[in-house]
Amino acid sequence: MVDDSSPEPTPRALVSACLMGKACRYDGGHNRDQALESELAQEGLTPVPFCPEEHGGLSTPRPAAWIERDGAAAVLDGKSGLSTGDGTDVTAEFLAGAEGALELCKKEGITRAFLKERSPSCGVATTHVDGVAVSGPGVTAALLGRNGVNCTGVEGRRDDS
Ligand code: SF4
Repeated sequence: MVDDSSPEPTPRALVSACLMGKACRYDGGHNRDQALESELAQEGLTPVPFCPEEHGGLSTPRPAAWIERDGAAAVLDGKSGLSTGDGTDVTAEFLAGAEGALELCKKEGITRAFLKERSPSCGVATTHVDGVAVSGPGVTAALLGRNGVNCTGVEGRRDDS
């Protein structure tokens, strides 16, 4: 006999860890967004914090990095990369972080993500190319979007009052 008394599992959403208060930004800070925490609770979503850049093996703090040219789609297609201001190639680390995010979403059945705007990894509407903020997603948001995860950009640092 099937036991249907157990509660439905709470839907989960991937969230940039820095938005949840983890000090994983490149400069060692965070972007805790209390308004987002309230919004997720209202929607009945359990946040799953994840930092692609730390997952990809980069340390915190770390030098700022950006997409070299043409945007995140070109990175995913092997036609561009990412580097720091001193020219260090960090493409492999950013791709590993994006792939880790996608793997986690697949494993946990996650179909929504709330990601920090303007990051070269997490930005959804805005990212950094050649050191300048431009329209377009970061590498993680682009890979998640290609695979059907609904990504919402969050600026961060709002309080919930
Ligand atoms: S924006 Fe994304 S990659 Fe950058 S610190 Fe936050 S979670 Fe990590």
